Amino acid sequence: MIYLDHAATSPVYPAVLDEMDAVSREIYGNPSSLYTFGYLAKKLLHKSRLDLACSIGAETDEIVFTSGGTEGNNLALFGVLRANRQKRHLIVGSTEHHSILLPARALEREGFDLTVLPCDANGLYSPEALARAIRPDTALVSLQIANNETGVLQPIGEIGAITRERRIPLHCDAVAAYCHIPLDVRALKIDLLSTSAHKAGGPRGIGFLFVRDEIPIVPLFFGGSQERALRPGTENLPAIAGFAKALTCATLPASSAVRDRLADLLMQQFPDARVNGAGAPRLPHILNITLPGVPAEQLLPLLSAAGICVSARAACAGGERKPSHVLTAMGLSATQAGETLRFSTGFCNKLSDADETSNAIDYAVYRQICT
Ligand code: PMP
Repeated sequence: MIYLDHAATSPVYPAVLDEMDAVSREIYGNPSSLYTFGYLAKKLLHKSRLDLACSIGAETDEIVFTSGGTEGNNLALFGVLRANRQKRHLIVGSTEHHSILLPARALEREGFDLTVLPCDANGLYSPEALARAIRPDTALVSLQIANNETGVLQPIGEIGAITRERRIPLHCDAVAAYCHIPLDVRALKIDLLSTSAHKAGGPRGIGFLFVRDEIPIVPLFFGGSQERALRPGTENLPAIAGFAKALTCATLPASSAVRDRLADLLMQQFPDARVNGAGAPRLPHILNITLPGVPAEQLLPLLSAAGICVSARAACAGGERKPSHVLTAMGLSATQAGETLRFSTGFCNKLSDADETSNAIDYAVYRQICT
């Protein structure tokens, strides 16, 4: 099998599995328990939090563990808007993940005003357009660091300079980018940032939300006092320790070698192919490419039969038959969006995977789809 869908979920590093196994067997106490065995768990929780905080230039008490990106994004949007009901306006980007767009729509139904910021043909948001969209009652701006379908990296430094100057909290969905490129929340002037471990060699069901110390936010859940009562519930220590271990396994920035080789081979094979977001800076491991005349719906099962795992769009939207909202926001037609594949590489890939994949596509297209 050739796995080229790391942006959907990645295999877990063996060292992470070992860490999670050891923690589950040996440090199974509850970090809130007052005896020494509980203290050992608390110490490990603190060490993991410190490692993860350092990875983005944050302080430990600014890290709130969540069940992943979806929860972090929901907590950021609902938590910040409900904390300050004087401010009624929210800005999100048009190519955001559904775990931003759908909470934003839900908040709109609760009576908040929503502005969806458009992007250009490369998938980039314009800092000037953002500055114009900001109102005196804007409570939050939420724009992704990088897109999970195209890998396009937003000009977050410029965006953060604008939001900080206007004193509006900036939330960034960093799920696609975290552990693939270096990130520094202080340098980028980010106020909240969501991550998820399972896109980067860590386990599923764990992530964190960074919340800068001065940002008012209220919880979605109520119960215990864990995570400063912002996310109560017994901590998932094996997953948290595994997440911290995944950090130590990653190389930053991730390698683009397999992605670039695949792009070169496919461009030779399909001279009219188009790499979406080619004119923008992009993550090193994602290739989003439109192959005119080749419907992804027909190609994917043939590739799957050849043992190659690729996707046509974000995994969370896999069941949807609508064209990708990311690609249509960039100006692609529904047909072009339906002729698009997303390849995402990771630590388990070799350069030869690119050759085998392009050969399999060649075979599928010329022998089966076009005949
Ligand atoms: N944001 C982005 C950009 C994502 O790609 C994903 C996962 N597809 C999420 C949020 C949701 O993360 P999780 O699966 O950890 O809930």
